[in-house]
Amino acid sequence: MRPYPMARITGKSPPRLDEGLFGRHLDLAPLRGRRRGLVRCVFHVPDRRGSLSVDLDRGVFNCFACGASGGLGRFADLVGERGLGSSSRFERESPLQEARRRILRIARAQDARRAEWLPLWHVSDHIRLCARLACEARQWGTVVGPDDPRAWPLLERAAAVEREGFSLEAELDAILGEGRIS
Ligand SMILES: [Zn+2]
Repeated sequence: MRPYPMARITGKSPPRLDEGLFGRHLDLAPLRGRRRGLVRCVFHVPDRRGSLSVDLDRGVFNCFACGASGGLGRFADLVGERGLGSSSRFERESPLQEARRRILRIARAQDARRAEWLPLWHVSDHIRLCARLACEARQWGTVVGPDDPRAWPLLERAAAVEREGFSLEAELDAILGEGRIS
């Protein structure tokens, strides 16, 4: 699983992730803009040669001299940043990325909610349609008059459609009264 779906969605290259934590404690200048390479280790001193291998994209480090190694969590532990409220997520995300992720989450929730309520909207439309058809059938019954053989079937039909509408409406009210769809 890729950890940064936003990159796939926007088509932009993945954001620079782990410079924050690594950059606060390591001198990344020897990388000269590259995403991985050897820098001076801070876990054993002095390290004049630059024995610490870091990979900013993978968030891993390994010192070939003192053996310190691990991922972001281990690095945070070693430099004492764990427990300062810095979860790896916040280490990895800029405020803009964080905001984008939040907006995406809200949008997804709204989509899910819309999908959940859509059937009820259709039911609601159907109830209105029943009421209108019943009304029209009655009007036609009145137009053709009581002596017309079509009048009674029309009125019966109107009553049946109206009952269906009322019945659906009662069910819909019950569902809406519960405030949720099971
Ligand atoms: Zn070291």
